[in-house]
Amino acid sequence: MTVTDLSPIAVSTSKAGGVDPSDFARLRAEITAFVDGPAERWAERIEQTGVVPEELWAELRSLGYLSLAAPREYGGAGLSFPQWMELMEIFSRSHGSLRMIVHVVNGTWRAMDAFADDEQRRRFVLPSIAGEIKTAFTLTEPDAGSGADIRSTVVREGDTYYLSGRKHLITFGVRCDYWLLAARVEGTTGHEGTVALMVPRNAPGVTVVDTSDTMGVTGTDHAHLTFDRTPVPVANRLGREGDGLAVALGGFLTPSRISVAMSCVGLARRAQELAFSYARQRETFGKPLTSRQAIQFMLAENEADIEAVKQLVMHAARSWEGGDPTASKLSSMAKMTAVDMLGRVTDKALQIHGGLGYWKTSAIERVYRDARAQRFEEGTNEIQKAVVFREMMEANR
Ligand SMILES: Cc1cc2nc3c(=O)[nH]c(=O)nc-3n(C[C@H](O)[C@H](O)[C@H](O)COP(=O)(O)OP(=O)(O)OC[C@H]3O[C@@H](n4cnc5c(N)ncnc54)[C@H](O)[C@@H]3O)c2cc1C
Repeated sequence: MTVTDLSPIAVSTSKAGGVDPSDFARLRAEITAFVDGPAERWAERIEQTGVVPEELWAELRSLGYLSLAAPREYGGAGLSFPQWMELMEIFSRSHGSLRMIVHVVNGTWRAMDAFADDEQRRRFVLPSIAGEIKTAFTLTEPDAGSGADIRSTVVREGDTYYLSGRKHLITFGVRCDYWLLAARVEGTTGHEGTVALMVPRNAPGVTVVDTSDTMGVTGTDHAHLTFDRTPVPVANRLGREGDGLAVALGGFLTPSRISVAMSCVGLARRAQELAFSYARQRETFGKPLTSRQAIQFMLAENEADIEAVKQLVMHAARSWEGGDPTASKLSSMAKMTAVDMLGRVTDKALQIHGGLGYWKTSAIERVYRDARAQRFEEGTNEIQKAVVFREMMEANR
């Protein structure tokens, strides 16, 4: 089966939403084969060189993997959101950087699309889905908390905003074409006056520091950015003044949290596969580790832990797709439960490997490092708990 067979053109839409089950099964099989084969070779290359090569982006794009989550009228595969999540689980068994590209590119267009006018859709949304431009989601600041606390400011002069401030920890912030950036009109507070801007990577007045040397997710570029009266056309503003946080945190965040939660499920599955396989072949005192009840229990607990979280994640995915008002709460519940599960599963998986698991020569070592990053993406557990509690209060007002 070739990749082209499985391009968006080759799949047909199911009456129940998404693509037909048989087409979806083919897509699943193809992506599983990719993750178990070529993706493992990319992983080795990334770990050896410390760099994600542009060729990986190009390959993912040519395979159609950067546009899977988009609707067909945008050039996407037309999957339902739960179908997309099933595929995210598979991609997440792979290297953290490969998973990062697939997760981010298949998600960022949602943030832009909800607020883009036709011209902006043509300039930013469709090229992003097609993999022609790279967009870095640029919210976090070194001088402020996430969300309504943002301090980066713009001053408008005619048709231009002048942007000043600092951002950090920005994934793809070095190699992107645009920073999708949240700031506020100078003098405003809270949600008032926030703006979302598509800031061109080559704009003047920007200092980009490459801060890519992270614990895991090796090779993904991250940036620290300083803007000093950087000019940005008002035409690059998504939505109105006051919509900035709605673009960054609105309808986009719920599916993105669900996707991060599913990423935890996929990576946990990988850890479990490695642990199970190792335990079967490693012998101590003349018997394989799998004959020891202590090891059997660890593997059994992992199995139950992963499946329980997957069901919660899929429930959140179906709720979001169905427009359920509790979807936001469910997405935070799924994310916080998933990262805790991933911590438990990867810890046990490494333990089963014994001391060898601590060595970079063991695949579990990279999985363990990559797993830790999930606790920050789309907000920490402390923030997820705050969201869940806020929604509980609102529902019981
Ligand atoms: C690998 C990686 C990639 C990232 N990519 C991006 C990206 O592309 N774009 C982007 O914008 N950001 C990105 N981030 C940043 C990420 O979103 C933040 O790290 C995360 O939201 C936490 O914010 P912070 O680092 O500012 O922590 P802080 O806000 O400084 O929090 C520090 C600790 O205090 C807790 N805390 C903070 N405020 C409260 C509160 N009000 N109540 C209770 N506890 C609180 C936090 O939970 C945390 O444990 C990335 C981070 C990582 C690790």
